[in-house]
Amino acid sequence: MPTYQYACKQCSHQFEVVQSFSDDSLTECPECQASCASSTARWA
Ligand SMILES: [Zn+2]
Repeated sequence: MPTYQYACKQCSHQFEVVQSFSDDSLTECPECQASCASSTARWA
């Protein structure tokens, strides 16, 4: 499964989530619950 890298626009927290293509992409930062921008998916 690909690893998606996210970066929060509000607190700059960066995190990675392993998701399948059928999963909805995350849109919420686990630190501040603000909207996050997803960046590239890559295969780990
Ligand atoms: Zn955040």
